[in-house]
Amino acid sequence: MSTKEVVLAVARRFLSFVDESPSPYHAVDQIKKKLVAAGFQELREANTWNVKPNAKYFVTKNQSTIIAFAVGGQFKPGNGFSIVGAHTDSPCLKVKPMSIVNKSGYNMVGVECYGGGIWHTWFDRDLKLAGRVLVRNGDKIEHRLVHVRKPILKVPNICIHLQRDHNEKHSVNKESHVCPILATSVQSALNGNNSSTDKDENKSGQTSSKLQPLLVQLLCDELQVSPDQLLDFDLHLADTQPSAIGGILDEFVFAPRLDNLLNAYTSAVGLIDSCADSSLEKEPNIRMISLFDNEEVGSQSAQGAGSSFQEFVLRRLSAGGSQTAFEEAIPKSYLLSADQAHAIHPNYSEKHESNHQPALHKGIVVKINSNQRYASTGITNTILREVSRLGDVPLQDFVVRNDTPCGSTIGPIMSAKLGMPTVDIGAPQLSMHSIREMCCTTSVWQAESLYKSFFINYPQVYNSMNF
Ligand SMILES: [Zn+2]
Repeated sequence: MSTKEVVLAVARRFLSFVDESPSPYHAVDQIKKKLVAAGFQELREANTWNVKPNAKYFVTKNQSTIIAFAVGGQFKPGNGFSIVGAHTDSPCLKVKPMSIVNKSGYNMVGVECYGGGIWHTWFDRDLKLAGRVLVRNGDKIEHRLVHVRKPILKVPNICIHLQRDHNEKHSVNKESHVCPILATSVQSALNGNNSSTDKDENKSGQTSSKLQPLLVQLLCDELQVSPDQLLDFDLHLADTQPSAIGGILDEFVFAPRLDNLLNAYTSAVGLIDSCADSSLEKEPNIRMISLFDNEEVGSQSAQGAGSSFQEFVLRRLSAGGSQTAFEEAIPKSYLLSADQAHAIHPNYSEKHESNHQPALHKGIVVKINSNQRYASTGITNTILREVSRLGDVPLQDFVVRNDTPCGSTIGPIMSAKLGMPTVDIGAPQLSMHSIREMCCTTSVWQAESLYKSFFINYPQVYNSMNF
């Protein structure tokens, strides 16, 4: 196969992952399935672990965060951790706890804005619903995923005739303008549903009374349960349009949630691929991916990168050695914090610093910010440059303009908490936080190759540092 064919094949596999991952729960489930197929065993946080060298494991939290690791054949407590960190969540509209809104003859669904989305891009899209539902089954409570692939919801734009300055100032009120339409009350009534909002009914506390009856019916059909079995839910809206390879030369990826499913997916592939040959037998470290939920809202949750989950996992894996095995492991470890980066935008090129304009196809972006919105340092960048040289993956540097606020990610949060050497990187993309984003096919392949090279080569690069 030519390089272009390889790149396209890699990108297409990623696109199917994105289309099957409309929520963080689905993303974790997809990754779990890939890991199990590659011989990883599931551990439970609540159990005692009996982790062996040269074996592979994973553990999940809240079903929306996953840490997977391959223990080197030469690993002993006190040895380092080679970690790629990324996140599983993306900005989206989420169904409110009590979401029945009936207005102007429409049955609507109350939604919350999760994260910093470009909300006007959610208008006039054919929206579906996906997430998880907690279901009572006899004396058991089950965690069930749901993915309604039909376009059942729409947030319509106001027409230009009723708002003549629409193109000049299309400002979105996040409470009153983004509420999607599910049905008309006319059709709903013909269908046998009483669409009047009975607030007293809502107070009954029954979960099924908090959602539009039509939605309850749909969820129950999908899950094959009755309304009284529904206990609670986390439901996300998503675009029904499938991801696509785009551009006249098939060089772009047009897809939702590239930030940050691209790195969640490619780090998992990089970890699995790094274990495909015998290199794990000689490995002194533990190779790990840590994919967290809630990055888009600041990471401060039990399953977020700001929690102690990462530290607890590392401590358990360092147990059994000297009393300070965990502390000894930290300086030998390295966190590659992978989150998407901003490619130069031709129509807004003045927004980029003139010497730092990451381009599509030209490599993975190293994010640097002396004010520590990114965790990269001269030392951690050097390690990355060595890893990328050994993996033959090009890098580009990014720094934000001094007059522009800088984004941030899990890198600074985790490196500060753990005291772990960290670099912040990402693949260049456009339209970040839009409902439909854009990157290049090459970067999916480059990210996979970089992470694989990191897992295989990091211990050797670390040992070459003569200071
Ligand atoms: Zn991100």
